This record gives sequence, structure tokens and C-alpha cells, in this order.
Amino acid sequence: MSAKIVSGKELAARIRAGLKPEVSAISSKRKQPVCLAVVLVGDNPASTVYVHAKEQAAREVGILPRDVRLPERTTQPELEATLRELSADPAVDGILLQLPLPKHLSEFDALCQIAPEKDVDGLTPYNQGLLFRGASCFQPCTPKGVMRLIDEAVGGESIAGKRAVVLGRSVLVGRPQYALLIERHCTVTLCHSRTEGLAEEIGRADIVVAAIGKPEFVRGEWIKAGATVIDVGINRSQSGKLLGDVHFPSAVERAGAITPVPGGVGPMTIAMLLENTVLAATKRAS
Ligand code: NAP
Repeated sequence: MSAKIVSGKELAARIRAGLKPEVSAISSKRKQPVCLAVVLVGDNPASTVYVHAKEQAAREVGILPRDVRLPERTTQPELEATLRELSADPAVDGILLQLPLPKHLSEFDALCQIAPEKDVDGLTPYNQGLLFRGASCFQPCTPKGVMRLIDEAVGGESIAGKRAVVLGRSVLVGRPQYALLIERHCTVTLCHSRTEGLAEEIGRADIVVAAIGKPEFVRGEWIKAGATVIDVGINRSQSGKLLGDVHFPSAVERAGAITPVPGGVGPMTIAMLLENTVLAATKRAS
């Protein structure tokens, strides 16, 4: 039996449509547009494409993007000063620092300069600390979007008590994903490159979130029949095709629900960024 395909593209479009009237109401109430500052250092081609997509999506819901481009040679003090200025600027509601940064810059030190109340990417240590306490915070966009996709996949049923396996332990995806899943009462196993018996771990899981950056690594035969599979991976094949971390043709035959690549987690990450920006603006307005 073939799995239900969970379209992040469609879900994200519904979320963006819902945000539009909210953005309009906030902007007219306070007579100031909702503003998202997007900071890009250097000209990494993939980052440039992502930034463009984020700014375009912001415009479509009525959020004003502020494009902050810094040259590759930007120093750590210069970057930090820019982030502090944006943090103090009353016209700015949210700040996104596009990662990765050029090698000579410290992401951690830079992120520490973003005011927590404008940290719409949820990556400052302050918001990450709150996340791991299970407290209210800005949740990182990709794992937040994954949770929405899981809810969509299970048709709103409770996931409490389900076994979940997260592949990858990055600060951006794997670790916050773990925190969000335990918050929803799943029993979570976090796997990484040193995990032994990975296929067996995956085979026990009702929910699999793959975020390792290895094209088609997870094979369909490893997956428990009927499981929900969320593929975060974005990898480019030699022919230029976008591939996830899951081998889709075999996984779709085993899973109960699965997200495609492209059109799965990617559009949801952007939708969650916009949602967090609206949240930041709402909090500032109240
Ligand atoms: P990352 O920082 O490179 O982390 C990769 C993680 O995968 C690491 O924890 C690594 O383990 C683990 N890993 C690598 N090989 C493995 C293996 N063979 N078995 C088990 N675990 C393994 O990557 P990331 O930033 O989390 O991104 C992961 C993927 O998601 C990439 O393809 C990225 O492009 C994609 N992504 C997509 C979105 C989106 O919006 N769709 C957003 C963010 C990222 P160790 O810690 O042991 O090295």
C-alpha cells in the first residue's frame, strides 16, 4: 500500500493565507509595517536563493523584508554591531541571520547578539534554553514545521506515547526536534553518525524525522509499516535533482505517511519563519 503524501507546499500555503489578515491588522493598528530583517553575509549561492525565497514569501503576506547584505570580508565585531543595531531598532520585529556564515565568523557569538524577543529563527541560546525547559519561546522554524507536518500526517490524532526517531543532532534541526517531540510526550531516540544499529532503531519508530544530509540514505525496508516519515534532507544529485535523506520510492511503499522532497519541509520552514515574525510583532504590539 502506498503512503499518504503530506504536502508541505499545500500546508504552508494555507498557513501563509491565514497570516495575511493578521499582518494587515497589526500593521494598521500600530501604523507601522511588520518588518523582518534578513541578514546575509557573503554570497554563498544556496544562501542567496534561500534569502530571496524568504523575502519573497514575507512580501506576499504583507511583511516588509529588510534586506541586510554584508560583504564576505565582514569582521566579527562588524557583524555583531549590525545585529545589535537591528535588535535596538524599533522598526524591526524579527531578525533572521542566514546560516552558514563564512568560516572566519562565529555563528554562536553572532547569534548571541540578537535580542531574544526578535529571534524569530529560535536559535539564540536564550530561546534554545527555554525550548529545552519546555517553556514558551520562539521555536526554530524547521523543527516547528516538522511538528505541523506530523500533525497533518496523523490527521490531528494525539502522538503521545509514540516512538519517534530523529536522525541527526544538529543545533538547527535534530536537537530542537528532540525537544519538541518530548514536549508532545513521544518517546524519542536521537540518532547520529555514531549510532549503532540505526536500521533497528528506525524499525521501532512510529515517527521518523530524517535530518542528516545524506541523499536517499534511509531505505524503505528499515521503516516500520505504517510509520510517519518526515524528510528534512535537501541534497542535490550529480544531475542537479533535489533528493531527501530518505529513499522515497521504497519508503512510500512502507510508510503510512511521508513528506516529499521538494515540497515537504522546505516550504514549512519559511511559513514558520513568517508565523514567528507575526508572533514577535504581536508580542511587541501588546
Ligand atoms: P548537519 O549540521 O550537517 O548535521 C547532520 C547530522 O546528521 C549530524 O548530527 C550527524 O551526526 C548526522 N549524521 C550524518 N551522517 C549520519 C549517518 N550516516 N547516520 C546517522 N546520522 C548521521 O545538518 P543539518 O543542518 O541538521 O541538516 C540536515 C539536512 O537537512 C541537510 O540535508 C540540510 O540541507 C537539510 N535541512 C533542510 C531544511 C529545510 O528547511 N528543509 C532546513 C535545515 C536543514 P554527527 O553529529 O555524529 O556528525
